[in-house]
Amino acid sequence: MTPPRRFFIETWGCQMNELDTQRMAGQLMQQGILPTHQPEEADIILLNSCSVREKAAQKVYSRLGEYRQFKRDRGDLLIGLCGCVAQQEGEKALERVPDLDFVLGPARVGELQEVVARRRAGERVVATGFPEDRQYDIDAVSRAGEYKGMVTIIEGCNKNCTFCIVPKTRGPERSRPSAEILREVRHLLDYGFQEIELLGQTVNHWREPEGEWDFADLLDQIARMPGVQRLRFVTSYPRDFTPRMVEQIGRHANICPYLHLPVQSGSDRVLRRMGRGYTRGEYLDLVGQLRRARPDLALSTDLIVGFPGETEEDFESTLELVREVRFAAMYAFKYSPRPGTAAPRLSDPVQPEVASERLQRLFQLQNGIQEEINRELVGEELEVIVTGWGKQPGTQTGRTPCHRVVHFATGPEPALLGSVTRVQVETALPHSLLGRRLPVPVLALS
Ligand code: SAM
Repeated sequence: MTPPRRFFIETWGCQMNELDTQRMAGQLMQQGILPTHQPEEADIILLNSCSVREKAAQKVYSRLGEYRQFKRDRGDLLIGLCGCVAQQEGEKALERVPDLDFVLGPARVGELQEVVARRRAGERVVATGFPEDRQYDIDAVSRAGEYKGMVTIIEGCNKNCTFCIVPKTRGPERSRPSAEILREVRHLLDYGFQEIELLGQTVNHWREPEGEWDFADLLDQIARMPGVQRLRFVTSYPRDFTPRMVEQIGRHANICPYLHLPVQSGSDRVLRRMGRGYTRGEYLDLVGQLRRARPDLALSTDLIVGFPGETEEDFESTLELVREVRFAAMYAFKYSPRPGTAAPRLSDPVQPEVASERLQRLFQLQNGIQEEINRELVGEELEVIVTGWGKQPGTQTGRTPCHRVVHFATGPEPALLGSVTRVQVETALPHSLLGRRLPVPVLALS
């Protein structure tokens, strides 16, 4: 008997890439090709890349260099470059890497089976661009082992922030019809998913393609669906929030009290140069509205330091904003010039050493804030969805509704992955909580 064929996918970047990986895995599994964790035993290797920062894009090329060595022993091995670097590079990637078999852009993920077949027939394929008609088979998504079901509601981005390559790699904005979205959510609930995560680069800019609904209506509909235990969405664009959306977040307890709201900078001058379309004051006002609607809301953010023209004073404004908002989590990056974006042409670039030093100061401030916020949770009993096994024997890991990572001792019986358990927090660290799983209360029958 011939052994089953195997695939290996390496993924970088955002949740959208994670979902694209699940979609590619699903299509291959439909053809009887099985996943492996060992690239050296794979018949198909896919690199699902990210190009938001230069380092991520470089990493994918160095990995391609490593994987093409396997072709020496395995003549029939296929290597595909997928994701945002694939869209950015297209044909150039095939020229640069002679052993690369195909290039598949993010809007063409649904065509993987055809692309592999064309390659097997001898063609080196470049499938990029943004076709109107996109293939998306919700049955061909490998969601196994996941506790949350991700659903793309809006693709692409029209914002054109001066630093960001996403509009080039993921194309113009395009909302999926609500009927399709609701059908996919129902499908996930039928499979028993506890948590639904709606995805989009500007998720709260979703609009019914031919209708009146906006994101507030969609949130309301999904939150009301029986079986939706936790509802999340990422990434929200500050300028696109409306009072109706804030109201829905306050109204539905199953909308998680966690919101990722990238601010990028605390300085109005820098925000203007970034083309973000809001001011520091407007951002803080929105934070106030959200917290009034949902006092338990944990906020996280993205920040870029060392953007062209950022002065020490601008950076101090960012630190000040971070102190004021007290984010529960923060993702901060040194500015990285990206091809085809406007920011590299702006005056007064910041020296890399200055940007590194600012990034350090920002992390130092944020670590202290996170530790303080997490310390307030010591002694509390939290509801946790079990997401995996801990590094220490006898421990498991989970996520609270406000998206904090909790490591806990399993107790006599480990909890099922994907199940909900209660954990009492014993120790607070800046990036996680440690606790003890509480016994499930025994109901007395009368
Ligand atoms: N669509 C989201 C938005 O506009 O808020 C985020 C998109 S991006 C995938 C995730 C984060 O990467 C951004 O929020 C930003 O902080 C960071 N980022 C994007 N371009 C960058 C660049 N050129 N250099 C450094 N960080 C960047």
